[in-house]
Amino acid sequence: MTRALPITPDNLTIPRKDTKTGKQNLVGLSRAQMREALIDAGTPHKQAGMRVGQIWQWIYQKGVSDFANMTNLAKPYRAMLEETFTVARPEIVTTQISVDGTRKYLLRIAGGHEVEVVYIPETDRGTLCISSQVGCMLTCSFCHTGTQKLVRNLTPAEIVGQILVARDDLDEWGVPPGEKRRLSNIVLMGMGEPLYNFENVRDAMLIAMDNEGISLSRRRITLSTSGVVPEIRRAGEEIGCMIAVSFHATNDQTRDRLVPINKRWNIAALLDALRDYPRLSNSERITFEYVMLHGVNDSDEDARELVRLIDGIPAKINLIPFNEWPGAPYKRSSNNRIRAFGDIVNNAGYASPVRRPRGEDIMAACGQLKSATERARKSKAQIEAETRS
Ligand code: SAH
Ligand code: SF4
Repeated sequence: MTRALPITPDNLTIPRKDTKTGKQNLVGLSRAQMREALIDAGTPHKQAGMRVGQIWQWIYQKGVSDFANMTNLAKPYRAMLEETFTVARPEIVTTQISVDGTRKYLLRIAGGHEVEVVYIPETDRGTLCISSQVGCMLTCSFCHTGTQKLVRNLTPAEIVGQILVARDDLDEWGVPPGEKRRLSNIVLMGMGEPLYNFENVRDAMLIAMDNEGISLSRRRITLSTSGVVPEIRRAGEEIGCMIAVSFHATNDQTRDRLVPINKRWNIAALLDALRDYPRLSNSERITFEYVMLHGVNDSDEDARELVRLIDGIPAKINLIPFNEWPGAPYKRSSNNRIRAFGDIVNNAGYASPVRRPRGEDIMAACGQLKSATERARKSKAQIEAETRS
């Protein structure tokens, strides 16, 4: 029997007021919300749109968080802003830098919770891997985050805040349009299931894409989902970003065990939703993520079945060597095995890059993120119940 997994309740997101000052944070508000907030604070209706544009540019193009430095605003207006609002980012607890240049930030957010963000420099790009939730309600058996309970959803401010914090650290404010950026891509592949925090993730990504703001192209943003089927199309319509799916198995029995949400929406349902993703084409392909687990999902037969299943979907297969974590119940496939698997997929006409583990020395690789505080640990019984096939 298929057992329904619980749906995230709306009340998992805390309100937008700064807990210390009681002031409202302007970060993470949509333009319409910011306009409304400014009007409520006394800004004349007629000026509000222009003020939003000005403040927006200070926050998202120049990285300014002190109202006193917003020099194109009149002094009394700056004082009013200062009294009513903040431009707040999550607090950085630690920054770790790997020998390979990967940076991992541990951030503290309201309530004392912690989330991790990872910056991965490459020759042609710099990717920021951001989190959407504290912990995760799902229990993928190979994922470290999956052993931690869902604590709460991140607010739009906390999601955008991860980008602001990284840009502060990379000293990347005021880069002229068209110039190469150190932070050029975003992947929603950190802690949490982004499609179980849909509205907040969407609102944050709309800010990341806004041309007068952080101004990243929608094609440089990739949202990874474990397979929340009813929200996939919506991601294409309301965010327009690229989609990656944690596929990881070629039959329902194995996928039930690895990615238990498969018990609710199985491989056939998932593939239907992916075929339906808006704007699919050779230049806008779906990324199938496939974690290589020794003896579990890595045979030649699996590779052939994978190719058969995705037939007709513009796709790229991202092979991820399993990253181990303390107590993990799997081993990484050998390099030869990964190569042989990749060759079969590649010969069938799909790009099959192997995702080189980055930042292993600082536990920053995929699936290794987890709040160090671990206040909310899932019980063994819960994990076992949800991963039993
Ligand atoms: N919750 C989303 C996004 C976060 S996980 C999702 O599941 O898609 C980002 C990617 O890392 C997913 O493909 C996930 O399956 C993979 N991953 C998780 N744990 C891993 C591990 N230990 N080694 C390698 N990849 C892992
Ligand atoms: Fe959650 Fe993704 Fe980890 Fe699964 S792989 S437990 S959905 S973060």
